[in-house]
Amino acid sequence: MACRQFDKAADAISLPEAIRDRTKYPRRCLAVSLPVKRDDGSVTVVEGYRVQHNLSTGPAKGGIRFHEHVTLGEIGALAMWMSWKYSLVGLPYGGAKGGVIVDPSKLSETELEHLSRRYMQEMVNFIGPHTEVPAPDVGTNEKIMGWMMDTYSNHVGHISPAIVTGKPIAIGGSQGLREATGAGGAYLVKKYLADLKIPLSKTTVAIEGFGNVGNETALAHYGAKIIAISDYTGAFYNAEGIDLSRALKYVRYQKVLRDFDGAEPITNKQLLELKCTVLVPAALERVITDKNAAKLKCRVLAEAANGPTTNAADKIIDARGNIELIPDVLCNAGGVIVSYFEWLQNLSNFYWSRDEVLTKLFGILDQAKDAVDTQQKKFQFSRRLAALTLGIQRVADAKATRGLFP
Ligand code: NAD
Repeated sequence: MACRQFDKAADAISLPEAIRDRTKYPRRCLAVSLPVKRDDGSVTVVEGYRVQHNLSTGPAKGGIRFHEHVTLGEIGALAMWMSWKYSLVGLPYGGAKGGVIVDPSKLSETELEHLSRRYMQEMVNFIGPHTEVPAPDVGTNEKIMGWMMDTYSNHVGHISPAIVTGKPIAIGGSQGLREATGAGGAYLVKKYLADLKIPLSKTTVAIEGFGNVGNETALAHYGAKIIAISDYTGAFYNAEGIDLSRALKYVRYQKVLRDFDGAEPITNKQLLELKCTVLVPAALERVITDKNAAKLKCRVLAEAANGPTTNAADKIIDARGNIELIPDVLCNAGGVIVSYFEWLQNLSNFYWSRDEVLTKLFGILDQAKDAVDTQQKKFQFSRRLAALTLGIQRVADAKATRGLFP
C-alpha cells in the first residue's frame, strides 16, 4: 500500500528514475530474537524489528509497536510514511519504525520491562541520539520509553535522554507530548470545519480506537459531541454525547471498553459507518476499505492512525467528493512535532513550558496545512496526493543534493 502510494505520487511529480528507488526503499533494517524471562521461570523468544527508511535528512525517528500482528512489511511501510511526514512538516529527521510480535496485555509488568529493556539492548549499536530516536506507538507508552532510556544510558555510561522521546516528564519528557497527536489532529479538524463553515457546536465525532491517540483526540475535541468510541473489545454509541471522564475512568480501571455502561453497544463496523461530522480512525491500518468507503456518512475523515485507508478506498472517497480527508501524514503529525521538541530540549538541557510547546506545534501545523492546501489547488491533487508529493519531493531533493557516494 505504501509502495503503491509512493509510485502514484512519484508519477504525479515526474520524479526522475535516477532518484526514485533511492527515495522509495528503506535504507536498512534489523531483525532480532528477544528472549524474555517469564514470571514462572520459563523463557519465551519473540521476534522484533527496526527499519530505518531514510537517514539522508537527519537522524531517523519512529515509534515502537508491540502487537501480535506486527510484520516486517508493516514496519517498513510505517517507516516509509514517517519519512514523508517529517519532510512535509519540515522536521530534520528520516523515517523509521520498530515492532515486536507480542501481545503486551498477556505480559506481566515485570515481563514487559524485561522485553522492553532487551529490545533496547539489541538496538544499542543500531540507534543513537544522532542516528535514530525511537518513540511510543501502538502497545507502548511513556513507562516503556523510560525503561528503554535507562537501558541505553546504562550502556553508554551516562544519562542519554535524547535516545527516545515520549518519556515521562520526570526524566526529560516534554510538556504537551502526551496530548500532541490528538491535540494536533483536533486542531486541524477545527480548521477544516471552519473552512466548511461547520460550527463546533453542531459537530459530532466518532472515534475508532481509544488508546493514547484516541483518548487525547476525544479530550481535544471539547466543544463538539463525541457520539461513539471503540477499542478492540467493542464499540459504544450515545447520540447525546459520551461522558468522556466516565469512559476514561472506565478504561483506566478495566483496561478496555468491554461492557462499558455509559453508552449503547454497537459493532466496530457500525461505528465506522455512523452518521457523524467527523470520523477519526485512531487504531490500526486498513480499516476504511473498498467494502465500507461508499457507506461512510462522515463529512470529515481525520486519519489519526497511520494508514487507516486502503488505496482502493481512497479512490472511492475521491470519486465521492463529499468527504474532506485529512491524510495521516498531516493529521497525526502533532506527535512527531512535539517529539522533535522533546529531542531538542534533551540535547540542549533547556526545557519549555506547555504553552510554548503547543504554540509552536500549532504554528508548524498551520504552515503544513497551508502548504498542502496550496499544492492541492495548484495541481488539482487529492489532499493525500498533495501531502505525499510535498513530503516525497523534499526527501528526493535532499538525496539528490547530497549526491551519491560511489
Ligand atoms: P494504542 O495502543 O495506545 O491504542 C490503540 C487503540 O486501538 C486501542 O484502544 C485498541 O484497543 C484499539 N484497537 C485495536 N484494534 C481495534 C479494532 N479492530 N477496532 C477498534 N479499536 C481497535 O495506540 P496509539 O499509540 O493510540 O496509536 C494508534 C494509531 O495512531 C496507530 O496507527 C499509530 O501508529 C498512530 N500514531 C500514534 C502516535 C503516538 O504518539 N502514540 C503518533 C502518531 C500516530
